[in-house]
Amino acid sequence: MKYKKFITFEGGEGSGKSTQIKLLAKKIDISRNVCLTREPGGTESAEEIRKLLVRGKVDKWSSISELLLLFAARKDHIDNLILPSLKSNKWVLCDRFVDSTYVYQGMCGKTSLELIKKIETIIIGKFKPSLTFLINLDPEIGLKRSRRPGNKDLRYENMDINFHKKVYRSYLKLASLNKQRIVLIDGSKSITYIENQIWKKIKNKIL
Ligand code: ADP
Repeated sequence: MKYKKFITFEGGEGSGKSTQIKLLAKKIDISRNVCLTREPGGTESAEEIRKLLVRGKVDKWSSISELLLLFAARKDHIDNLILPSLKSNKWVLCDRFVDSTYVYQGMCGKTSLELIKKIETIIIGKFKPSLTFLINLDPEIGLKRSRRPGNKDLRYENMDINFHKKVYRSYLKLASLNKQRIVLIDGSKSITYIENQIWKKIKNKIL
């Protein structure tokens, strides 16, 4: 099922997702009707799982354990935050969602896309965002932006540069297969330029 007000943001590390999601939330939030959230995480329990995923050694999880942790967090997030918010007619802006799992664990990891699809079908069925902004940025630039002082959540950032280059290419492939839903945004432009591009799309497609 598609909820018009469920919008996700995707892209590599440091591409500008959280910057833009906050700016969009401000624009929409005339009557505090926006839920701004992220994956992995978003609820108290899912944030606990997040810590297990985004901290520590790059190779700390087997691919299947990592996949199950991601979907465990996602299930809690959907049931306890995303769906209740949408049902009370709020906008839900989410920093990463299932596309990230297809790209990071599937196209760039060791998990088969078939397995991800099966678990997705069991856990979340046909629930999808109506629109996804893919912020596209050279990973060398994104990683430099992302490694700011105080950022401890570096497990994915610390993966090899070739992994991040593959992430970049995989997102483009995923976008080409989902042209109706995924909107490509040039992350090398200024913050304000991108903010306006995103707002234009929202006005055309949703408002
Ligand atoms: P992400 O959420 O995708 O990891 P962030 O939004 O946290 O990325 O951005 C990472 C860093 O890059 C932040 O310091 C942010 O201020 C900066 N940044 C975001 N968008 C741009 C942009 N278009 N141009 C230059 N710097 C940017």
